Amino acid sequence: MLGAQADAPYVGGPPIKAALQERRAWVFADPAPTVTFDNQFSGARVNACTQIGPHEFKVLITPENEPINPSPWYAFRVKADAPVDITVHLAITTAKSRPRARVSTDGITWKRVPDVDWQGASGAPECVLKLHVGPQPTWVASNHMIGNEQLWAWTDAMATRPFAKSSVIGESAAGRPLKMVEFNDGAPPNYVIVIGRQHPPEVSGSVGLMRFMEAMLGDGELAKRFRSKFRVVMVPLVNPDGVHEGQWRSTLGAVDNNRDWHDFSQPESRAVRDAILEIQKRPDARMFLLLDFHATDRDIFYLPPDAARTFPPNFARRWVDAIQKRFPDYTVESSGAHNVDQWTFKRWAFETTGAPGITYELGSATPHDRIARIVSGAAEDAMTLLLESADAPRSEGPFPPIADRIVEVKPKAADAAPVGAGP
Ligand SMILES: [Zn+2]
Repeated sequence: MLGAQADAPYVGGPPIKAALQERRAWVFADPAPTVTFDNQFSGARVNACTQIGPHEFKVLITPENEPINPSPWYAFRVKADAPVDITVHLAITTAKSRPRARVSTDGITWKRVPDVDWQGASGAPECVLKLHVGPQPTWVASNHMIGNEQLWAWTDAMATRPFAKSSVIGESAAGRPLKMVEFNDGAPPNYVIVIGRQHPPEVSGSVGLMRFMEAMLGDGELAKRFRSKFRVVMVPLVNPDGVHEGQWRSTLGAVDNNRDWHDFSQPESRAVRDAILEIQKRPDARMFLLLDFHATDRDIFYLPPDAARTFPPNFARRWVDAIQKRFPDYTVESSGAHNVDQWTFKRWAFETTGAPGITYELGSATPHDRIARIVSGAAEDAMTLLLESADAPRSEGPFPPIADRIVEVKPKAADAAPVGAGP
């Protein structure tokens, strides 16, 4: 249940550099009825709340550090002693892009606030939200809330499968577990690695990761054949502290986790790196695909540089083409030139293993049933292509030097990230 998770004590871990919100309730009794806002639940983010008129309130949202990618997250709960219509001004500092608002009466099922009750354009200094509230709390957030508890519950349920082995590969700065599950250790050591939620607000990425894994672990003929040849390893929640604190982007160390794959300054990226390197050292281990789920303003794949020589050969482009062929009415966007100079997971994954490192972005507003349909198809195409290479000979290590494998890395202007986006 949302709200059941207490704040973890930040004792003994690395220094906390992110600006934390004060967890509290704001009570406004005049005029009646009394209206109460609070941020005392996991995933909440509200930095201040003031009354600016009768039944009219201002909620301040600030990021954990700056400069920061302008993909703001907020979440709060509001209730009133008696039913009342209220107006909430959302003042979101530093953001150039404006989130929408979604509401929930149980913290689980969400619906988008209709246009008639929402004012705020991209770049506007403030958004205004009309709400009808009463004694039962209303949750308000910039997107569906799929947080630590839901993801851990899903992870634990996946780990009960007979061919699954679960472990904790490390701890976040605040001591939260970094959970990994390995599937099919009876198969040859051909590995697919899947990670997610480096960036706290990217809920659609978690939906994509869950549906992708469920497809790979499904009961169909293809999935069974795939699992006779491949092992799949997942770390679905890389930044649980950021998710708990409702952060926009960073770890508690105030670092963008998906820019830390060179310095490894954060315990979260170190733990995932070490777990993958341990797997790679196993006898006869071969890496085939390392996939990192995110969310941005649309569905898009960020691939290894187009000229990069990967194993399996040219997997990324062949995969994208297969997905496009499967869904002719859906445009599969992809780029091999995005953020090639940044220390992302996908770059580290490719340069370390020679296998394709891919960022799979799902749109923050893409309906979840569409994510399920597309991602399940993408998983099937990945399995088909990987099976073709399962028994292919591979020149064994040492890998050719990185400079030799990345033949050409040339960012194109057309691939520049739009405001508010970023893997
Ligand atoms: Zn991201």
